[in-house]
Amino acid sequence: MSEQFTPIATLGEFGLIDRMVERLADLPRSEDLIEGIGDDAAVYRAGGDMLHVLTTDALIEGVHFDRSFIPMQFLGFKSISVNVSDVAAMNATPLYATVSIGMPRNLSVEMIDGLYDGMAEACKMYNMELVGGDSSTSHALYISISIVGQVHERDVVFRRGASVGDYLCVTGDVGGAYAGLKVLLDQRQAQIDLGDDYEPELDAHQYVIRRQLRPTARIDMVEAFRGAGIKPTSMIDVSDGIASEVNHIARRSGVGATVRIPALPFDPETRAVADQYLDEIDAYALFGGEDYELLFTINPEDVDKVDALQGCSVIGNIEESSKGVRAMSPETGLMPLHPTGYQHFEPGEEPPEFNISVDED
Ligand code: ADP
Ligand code: MG
Repeated sequence: MSEQFTPIATLGEFGLIDRMVERLADLPRSEDLIEGIGDDAAVYRAGGDMLHVLTTDALIEGVHFDRSFIPMQFLGFKSISVNVSDVAAMNATPLYATVSIGMPRNLSVEMIDGLYDGMAEACKMYNMELVGGDSSTSHALYISISIVGQVHERDVVFRRGASVGDYLCVTGDVGGAYAGLKVLLDQRQAQIDLGDDYEPELDAHQYVIRRQLRPTARIDMVEAFRGAGIKPTSMIDVSDGIASEVNHIARRSGVGATVRIPALPFDPETRAVADQYLDEIDAYALFGGEDYELLFTINPEDVDKVDALQGCSVIGNIEESSKGVRAMSPETGLMPLHPTGYQHFEPGEEPPEFNISVDED
């Protein structure tokens, strides 16, 4: 072993994954494997015309959630949803889940009951089964879930399928999960500042708080696409923010893209939160993340079918790769859009801090 010690942060999350891929490069690759590392889920042949998709995601206390904010039942629901969201991103439906839990000693049986009630509720909603897992003690609450899903080979959608001329679309509304986080952080500060005089002000923000604490994966849209005869040309789920996800689609597809900022769909409650804090609402959608909506591209021929579906917005266009990924608004014109910020951020100025996350994303 070498004596070198290179801090992980020097590579960043995606540099690190590229490096892992290099270490695995010599492994023989099965003929049945269609997609390995690099998409929302791995895809392999399951026999006949069917494919399986396989994905895993962990939620870790102090990194992805704060136990003082989130009721256990919501945490259970969310931990299933974030995984199902990656299955939906492949245009697939979930079948089976396994769950590994690391439990700190200060967790009660009643809390685990709540966690599993939430997971059961989610499994019911997504029509899937929880079939196994692993339990151990741990320093922080840790929930790692793997899900197998299925999709007919003619329906599977990857991040890499976007072509120049396609429209860029998103389901539902965006930025709400970050707005919810902002309210929760603010309320916690008020509680600290006001002590016994603190009175929770959460009623006006129920929608955005739910978006943060109890997100739903858009399996309903996967079914709606099927019903309407729409097959997106590429797709990804919105876990890190529109800016990051558009860059993933562009990189994997070898294209550029322009996001039209005024076309981003917001719920009125998200707008109210941004107004209250004098924030630019666009940043909530672009860099906030955790909305678990689907960002996808379509052939222009399908735009009428997408318009006819309730709950999808066209937010931009796919262009030549030489144009890069850009955002366009009347105020700023066209600007390069990087995964974590606009290029006009001054050197040294951090893009907005949007996760409770303490890791280097
Ligand atoms: P998502 O946000 O959709 O869960 P990620 O950005 O976490 O996707 O991961 C990008 C890709 O890298 C995925 O294909 C994922 O399976 C893969 N990946 C992430 N971490 C690891 C790891 N530790 N080892 C192998 N592959 C990984
Ligand atoms: Mg994903």
